[in-house]
Amino acid sequence: MRVLVVEDEAALRDTLKTRLTEAGFTIDVAQDGEEGLFAGQEYPLDVAIIDLGLPKLAGLEVIRRLRAAGKAYPILILTARDNWQDKVEGLQAGADDYVAKPFHFEEVLARLQALLRRAGGWASPELKCGPVALDTRAQTVKVAGQAIDLTTFEYRILEHLMLRAGEVISKAELTERLYDQDFERDSNVIEVLVGRLRRKLDPEDRLKPIETLRGRGYRFALARDPAS
Ligand code: CA
Repeated sequence: MRVLVVEDEAALRDTLKTRLTEAGFTIDVAQDGEEGLFAGQEYPLDVAIIDLGLPKLAGLEVIRRLRAAGKAYPILILTARDNWQDKVEGLQAGADDYVAKPFHFEEVLARLQALLRRAGGWASPELKCGPVALDTRAQTVKVAGQAIDLTTFEYRILEHLMLRAGEVISKAELTERLYDQDFERDSNVIEVLVGRLRRKLDPEDRLKPIETLRGRGYRFALARDPAS
């Protein structure tokens, strides 16, 4: 999942970048409103974290312009602790949730994960499709109750496909979501990772959880559990 962090306080920006990277996200950062607006319009994001008090262009204005430009990914705003007006205005401008400063990183992470789940149409943090269960909090995967050992990249691919189970995800989209801007992109790597993921999830080739649609991409093909 690719996250944009727009925050002018360097220490806070670095902390978010480090902790979110550890949590398995791909991160883009911007240090003022103008950079944030550019990144928010140009990069293929899954979610954005936007501080409201930003130099050059206010956070509220960044959100309004992103929404006016048709950007529909979830936005989490960072607000001052005692300023309820900020929260209301942020939500009215098009943000989806807020966290008040100072915050515990775990709260930001929990809210981001909830926004991503809801954007994918999931209510529960455990994504279940047939016998495959992926826990977005613990970042663990089980097939028919058996834990499966995945690498970070394999997990990220599976999470992205399962969050949007049933939809076709192009190789380009997967590549962009997995790597930072400066990483050399190679779609052959995605093919190799998807192949490994298939063998780990489905060693006997019976479930066929990940479908390849020639020239279009991949689709997680197992039906979503209606209860999750
Ligand atoms: Ca600020």
